[in-house]
Amino acid sequence: PFELKGKSVYVAGHRGMVGAAIARRLEREDVKFVTVDRREVDLRNQAAVFDWFAKARPQVVFLAAAKVGGIVANDTLRAEFIYDNIAIAANVIQAAHQNGAEKLMFLGSSCIYPKLAPQPLREDSVLTGPLEPTNEPYAIAKIAGIKMVEAYRSQYGCDFISVMPTNLYGPGDNYHPELSHVVAALIRRFHEAKVSGAKGVVVWGTGTPRREFLYVDDMADACVHLMKTYSGTDLINIGTGEDITIAEFARVVAEIVGYSGEISFDTSRPDGTPRKLLDVSRLDRLGWRATTALEDGLRRAYEAYCGSAGRS
Ligand code: GDP
Repeated sequence: PFELKGKSVYVAGHRGMVGAAIARRLEREDVKFVTVDRREVDLRNQAAVFDWFAKARPQVVFLAAAKVGGIVANDTLRAEFIYDNIAIAANVIQAAHQNGAEKLMFLGSSCIYPKLAPQPLREDSVLTGPLEPTNEPYAIAKIAGIKMVEAYRSQYGCDFISVMPTNLYGPGDNYHPELSHVVAALIRRFHEAKVSGAKGVVVWGTGTPRREFLYVDDMADACVHLMKTYSGTDLINIGTGEDITIAEFARVVAEIVGYSGEISFDTSRPDGTPRKLLDVSRLDRLGWRATTALEDGLRRAYEAYCGSAGRS
């Protein structure tokens, strides 16, 4: 096992939902938490990243920084999604290597798997077929990161690993009405409909795609567990192993928010990939399992939404 205790640990992306959850989880470890604000170091800027790493020299790196968003953000901000994410991965991975980081974890995404790969998605199905077009730029950038981790391990012997989280949700999510992921979008839309007394809520697409949702604090716990216990070239999926249709999911969100009006589907909006369920047997064998039920996680996410200043 890899000892985290007493180490300086850098979380890249600590202000995002994922990085913030890893930071919360690390409070329970005896580590020296290191981070830097994006106004000081833009992770897309190679010189800034190299300079900062040379000074800070973190021993352990969680690479959770990324430009992220829902299906519309991925599909419309295609240049930003590929450039920002390749630059972040390339700069941070190289800087960690140059400055002797003992271990690095790269966070990928379940969208790296081919659109029509067999379900549940096994780690070895990466690069076996064409990607889902709506998020191909993001997926290519994440695949580049994975391949860097693999190459740095094989050429330089770096103890760098890659994990693939499924669709995540929880406190600190982005609630932008157009650009967010489905969980945040529906929490907001159902909440606003409840408050305004609107008769109907529109859900994008046909309602038939299936998605797996993992509470972000569960994901953070899995990341810390794998950082301590796993070393190797294999990717590790992080998910619950269960999925739900978007239509069923919308009903669950409506119930948690307390919205009792109608739900309709706008089929002019994209469905994206038909199904995205991770095979979590590798993670299971490594001794970790998700514990937060979808309803419980959504209740907490909704409370955080109601308490956050960002909501309208
Ligand atoms: P994806 O998993 O990469 O497709 O990302 P999303 O979280 O954006 O979308 C998941 C699914 O939810 C897709 O089938 C969307 O069409 C569907 N969906 C339904 N309503 C919404 C919405 O209001 N916003 C988003 N982002 N997706 C929605």
